[in-house]
Amino acid sequence: MPIELRSVTKTYETEKTPAVRDISLRIAPGEFVCFIGPSGCGKSTVLKLISGLETPERGTIEAPQKTAMSFQFGALFPWLTVFENVALGLRTEGKSETHVMRAVYQELDAMKIREFEHKYPADLSGGQRQRVGIARALAVDPEVLLLDEPFSALDPQTTAELHDDIIDAWRRTKKTIILVSHLIEEAVSMGERVVLMKAGRIEADFRVDLPYPRRESEGFHRDVMKIRREFFRA
Ligand code: ADP
Repeated sequence: MPIELRSVTKTYETEKTPAVRDISLRIAPGEFVCFIGPSGCGKSTVLKLISGLETPERGTIEAPQKTAMSFQFGALFPWLTVFENVALGLRTEGKSETHVMRAVYQELDAMKIREFEHKYPADLSGGQRQRVGIARALAVDPEVLLLDEPFSALDPQTTAELHDDIIDAWRRTKKTIILVSHLIEEAVSMGERVVLMKAGRIEADFRVDLPYPRRESEGFHRDVMKIRREFFRA
Protein backbone atom coordinates (compact mmCIF):
# COMPACT_ATOMS: atom_id res chain seq x y z
CA MET A 1 0.00 0.00 0.00
CA PRO A 2 1.11 3.59 -0.55
CA ILE A 3 2.12 5.96 2.22
CA GLU A 4 -0.16 8.95 2.45
CA LEU A 5 0.25 11.99 4.70
CA ARG A 6 -2.55 14.52 4.62
CA SER A 7 -2.06 17.95 6.20
CA VAL A 8 0.14 16.52 8.95
CA THR A 9 1.38 18.78 11.73
CA LYS A 10 3.52 17.68 14.67
CA THR A 11 4.73 19.75 17.61
CA TYR A 12 6.87 18.08 20.28
CA GLU A 13 5.62 18.61 23.81
CA THR A 14 8.62 20.63 24.92
CA GLU A 15 8.64 22.85 21.82
CA LYS A 16 6.71 25.98 20.89
CA THR A 17 6.97 25.67 17.12
CA PRO A 18 5.93 22.62 15.08
CA ALA A 19 8.67 20.29 13.83
CA VAL A 20 6.43 19.43 10.86
CA ARG A 21 3.84 21.86 9.47
CA ASP A 22 0.87 20.88 7.35
CA ILE A 23 2.67 18.30 5.22
CA SER A 24 0.87 16.38 2.49
CA LEU A 25 2.72 13.67 0.62
CA ARG A 26 2.08 10.41 -1.20
CA ILE A 27 4.74 7.75 -1.67
CA ALA A 28 3.97 4.85 -4.00
CA PRO A 29 4.87 1.26 -3.08
CA GLY A 30 8.44 0.51 -4.13
CA GLU A 31 9.49 4.13 -4.48
CA PHE A 32 12.95 5.24 -3.32
CA VAL A 33 12.57 8.70 -1.79
CA CYS A 34 15.29 10.85 -0.23
CA PHE A 35 14.45 13.64 2.21
CA ILE A 36 16.97 16.44 2.33
CA GLY A 37 17.10 19.80 4.06
CA PRO A 38 19.04 21.68 6.71
CA SER A 39 19.48 20.22 10.17
CA GLY A 40 16.34 20.60 12.29
CA CYS A 41 13.93 21.04 9.35
CA GLY A 42 11.85 18.02 10.36
CA LYS A 43 13.21 15.16 8.21
CA SER A 44 13.62 12.65 11.04
CA THR A 45 10.23 13.61 12.42
CA VAL A 46 8.59 12.67 9.10
CA LEU A 47 10.33 9.29 9.31
CA LYS A 48 9.13 8.77 12.89
CA LEU A 49 5.58 9.73 11.91
CA ILE A 50 5.58 7.24 9.04
CA SER A 51 6.95 4.49 11.30
CA GLY A 52 4.38 5.26 14.02
CA LEU A 53 7.06 6.16 16.59
CA GLU A 54 5.40 9.60 16.77
CA THR A 55 1.78 10.55 16.22
CA PRO A 56 0.56 13.70 14.46
CA GLU A 57 -1.43 16.33 16.35
CA ARG A 58 -3.30 17.26 13.18
CA GLY A 59 -3.83 15.50 9.87
CA THR A 60 -3.84 11.82 8.98
CA ILE A 61 -1.23 9.23 8.04
CA GLU A 62 -1.78 6.00 6.20
CA ALA A 63 1.19 3.70 5.99
CA PRO A 64 1.88 -0.02 5.81
CA GLN A 65 1.82 -1.72 9.19
CA LYS A 66 5.25 -3.15 8.74
CA THR A 67 7.99 -0.58 8.53
CA ALA A 68 11.57 -0.97 9.75
CA MET A 69 14.00 1.76 10.65
CA SER A 70 17.77 1.76 10.64
CA PHE A 71 19.26 4.53 12.73
CA GLN A 72 22.40 6.62 12.66
CA PHE A 73 25.40 4.54 13.85
CA GLY A 74 23.35 1.36 13.46
CA ALA A 75 21.91 1.43 17.02
CA LEU A 76 22.89 -2.18 17.74
CA PHE A 77 22.69 -4.07 21.02
CA PRO A 78 26.30 -4.30 22.21
CA TRP A 79 25.76 -7.52 24.17
CA LEU A 80 24.50 -9.42 21.12
CA THR A 81 26.57 -10.82 18.25
CA VAL A 82 25.99 -9.65 14.69
CA PHE A 83 23.90 -12.75 14.01
CA GLU A 84 21.76 -12.21 17.10
CA ASN A 85 21.31 -8.51 16.38
CA VAL A 86 19.96 -9.31 12.93
CA ALA A 87 17.85 -12.18 14.30
CA LEU A 88 16.28 -10.12 17.06
CA GLY A 89 13.21 -8.85 15.24
CA LEU A 90 12.46 -12.30 13.84
CA ARG A 91 12.76 -13.88 17.27
CA THR A 92 10.42 -11.24 18.67
CA GLU A 93 7.94 -12.20 15.95
CA GLY A 94 8.24 -15.83 17.09
CA LYS A 95 9.60 -17.14 13.79
CA SER A 96 10.90 -20.71 13.62
CA GLU A 97 14.64 -21.32 13.91
CA THR A 98 14.74 -22.46 10.27
CA HIS A 99 13.13 -19.20 9.17
CA VAL A 100 15.48 -17.17 11.38
CA MET A 101 18.59 -18.86 9.96
CA ARG A 102 17.47 -18.44 6.36
CA ALA A 103 16.42 -14.80 6.70
CA VAL A 104 19.46 -13.75 8.73
CA TYR A 105 21.99 -15.35 6.37
CA GLN A 106 20.23 -13.91 3.34
CA GLU A 107 20.59 -10.38 4.72
CA LEU A 108 24.12 -10.94 6.06
CA ASP A 109 25.12 -12.05 2.55
CA ALA A 110 23.31 -9.16 0.87
CA MET A 111 25.03 -6.66 3.17
CA LYS A 112 28.38 -8.53 2.84
CA ILE A 113 28.87 -9.09 6.56
CA ARG A 114 28.43 -12.85 6.95
CA GLU A 115 32.07 -13.22 7.98
CA PHE A 116 31.33 -11.08 11.05
CA GLU A 117 28.36 -13.09 12.28
CA HIS A 118 30.04 -14.07 15.59
CA LYS A 119 31.50 -10.64 16.33
CA TYR A 120 30.11 -8.04 18.70
CA PRO A 121 29.29 -4.47 17.60
CA ALA A 122 32.30 -3.06 19.50
CA ASP A 123 34.61 -5.09 17.23
CA LEU A 124 33.17 -3.67 14.01
CA SER A 125 33.93 -0.55 11.99
CA GLY A 126 31.28 2.17 11.63
CA GLY A 127 30.41 0.98 8.13
CA GLN A 128 30.07 -2.64 9.23
CA ARG A 129 27.80 -1.60 12.11
CA GLN A 130 25.62 0.35 9.74
CA ARG A 131 25.38 -2.71 7.50
CA VAL A 132 24.24 -4.80 10.46
CA GLY A 133 21.56 -2.20 11.23
CA ILE A 134 20.27 -2.36 7.66
CA ALA A 135 20.41 -6.17 7.59
CA ARG A 136 18.40 -6.23 10.83
CA ALA A 137 15.79 -3.90 9.37
CA LEU A 138 15.49 -5.96 6.16
CA ALA A 139 15.42 -9.33 7.93
CA VAL A 140 11.85 -8.85 9.16
CA ASP A 141 10.77 -8.28 5.54
CA PRO A 142 9.11 -4.88 6.06
CA GLU A 143 7.15 -3.13 3.33
CA VAL A 144 9.00 0.09 4.04
CA LEU A 145 12.65 0.60 4.98
CA LEU A 146 13.40 3.88 6.75
CA LEU A 147 17.02 5.01 6.84
CA ASP A 148 17.92 7.98 9.03
CA GLU A 149 21.27 9.45 7.96
CA PRO A 150 22.96 6.06 7.70
CA PHE A 151 26.21 7.52 6.35
CA SER A 152 26.79 10.45 8.64
CA ALA A 153 29.75 8.98 10.53
CA LEU A 154 31.41 7.15 7.62
CA ASP A 155 34.36 7.92 5.37
CA PRO A 156 33.71 8.61 1.65
CA GLN A 157 34.88 5.21 0.38
CA THR A 158 32.73 3.28 2.89
CA THR A 159 29.80 5.57 2.13
CA ALA A 160 30.09 4.99 -1.64
CA GLU A 161 30.14 1.20 -1.16
CA LEU A 162 27.13 1.33 1.13
CA HIS A 163 25.25 3.54 -1.37
CA ASP A 164 25.69 0.84 -4.01
CA ASP A 165 24.59 -1.96 -1.67
CA ILE A 166 21.46 -0.08 -0.60
CA ILE A 167 20.54 0.54 -4.25
CA ASP A 168 21.10 -3.19 -4.91
CA ALA A 169 18.92 -4.08 -1.90
CA TRP A 170 16.18 -1.79 -3.20
CA ARG A 171 16.28 -3.34 -6.67
CA ARG A 172 16.32 -6.86 -5.22
CA THR A 173 13.54 -6.43 -2.68
CA LYS A 174 11.40 -3.75 -4.41
CA LYS A 175 10.66 -2.28 -1.01
CA THR A 176 9.77 1.33 -0.44
CA ILE A 177 12.89 3.07 0.84
CA ILE A 178 12.87 6.46 2.53
CA LEU A 179 16.27 7.88 3.27
CA VAL A 180 17.10 11.00 5.24
CA SER A 181 20.23 12.84 4.18
CA HIS A 182 21.65 16.33 4.41
CA LEU A 183 23.73 15.95 1.25
CA ILE A 184 22.22 16.85 -2.10
CA GLU A 185 24.72 14.73 -4.08
CA GLU A 186 23.91 11.69 -1.98
CA ALA A 187 20.16 12.10 -2.47
CA VAL A 188 20.51 12.60 -6.24
CA SER A 189 22.83 9.62 -6.58
CA MET A 190 20.31 7.32 -4.87
CA GLY A 191 16.65 8.34 -4.93
CA GLU A 192 14.04 8.30 -7.66
CA ARG A 193 12.61 11.30 -5.91
CA VAL A 194 14.16 14.00 -3.72
CA VAL A 195 11.93 15.86 -1.29
CA LEU A 196 13.40 19.13 -0.01
CA MET A 197 12.23 20.28 3.42
CA LYS A 198 12.68 23.63 5.11
CA ALA A 199 11.40 24.73 8.52
CA GLY A 200 8.94 21.84 8.81
CA ARG A 201 7.48 22.21 5.33
CA ILE A 202 7.98 20.54 1.99
CA GLU A 203 9.68 23.15 -0.14
CA ALA A 204 10.08 21.16 -3.35
CA ASP A 205 9.65 17.65 -4.71
CA PHE A 206 11.97 16.55 -7.51
CA ARG A 207 11.94 13.50 -9.73
CA VAL A 208 15.38 12.08 -10.58
CA ASP A 209 15.22 10.09 -13.75
CA LEU A 210 18.82 8.99 -14.30
CA PRO A 211 20.29 5.53 -14.87
CA TYR A 212 22.44 3.97 -12.11
CA PRO A 213 25.29 4.38 -11.32
CA ARG A 214 24.59 8.07 -11.44
CA ARG A 215 27.60 10.00 -10.30
CA GLU A 216 29.31 9.73 -13.69
CA SER A 217 26.16 10.32 -15.69
CA GLU A 218 25.71 13.54 -17.65
CA GLY A 219 22.49 14.56 -15.95
CA PHE A 220 23.84 14.10 -12.42
CA HIS A 221 25.44 17.52 -12.02
CA ARG A 222 22.54 19.20 -13.77
CA ASP A 223 20.08 17.70 -11.25
CA VAL A 224 22.37 18.46 -8.30
CA MET A 225 22.63 22.10 -9.41
CA LYS A 226 18.88 22.38 -9.89
CA ILE A 227 18.20 21.12 -6.36
CA ARG A 228 21.08 23.13 -4.91
CA ARG A 229 19.51 26.35 -6.21
CA GLU A 230 16.28 25.51 -4.36
CA PHE A 231 18.17 24.36 -1.27
CA PHE A 232 19.97 27.68 -0.85
CA ARG A 233 17.13 29.90 -2.06
CA ALA A 234 16.20 32.25 0.76
P1 ADP B 1 16.05 16.92 11.06
O1 ADP B 1 15.91 15.45 10.97
O2 ADP B 1 15.71 17.63 9.78
O3 ADP B 1 17.38 17.37 11.59
P2 ADP B 1 14.18 16.71 13.28
O4 ADP B 1 12.96 16.12 12.73
O5 ADP B 1 15.12 15.85 14.04
O6 ADP B 1 14.95 17.47 12.09
O7 ADP B 1 13.80 17.93 14.22
C1 ADP B 1 12.86 18.95 13.87
C2 ADP B 1 12.69 19.88 15.06
O8 ADP B 1 12.07 19.17 16.13
C3 ADP B 1 13.98 20.45 15.62
O9 ADP B 1 13.74 21.76 16.03
C4 ADP B 1 14.28 19.53 16.79
O10 ADP B 1 15.01 20.22 17.78
C5 ADP B 1 12.90 19.19 17.29
N1 ADP B 1 12.84 17.82 17.89
C6 ADP B 1 13.16 16.67 17.29
N2 ADP B 1 12.94 15.61 18.12
C7 ADP B 1 12.48 16.14 19.28
C8 ADP B 1 12.07 15.60 20.54
N3 ADP B 1 12.08 14.27 20.76
N4 ADP B 1 11.64 16.44 21.49
C9 ADP B 1 11.61 17.78 21.28
N5 ADP B 1 11.97 18.36 20.13
C10 ADP B 1 12.40 17.56 19.13
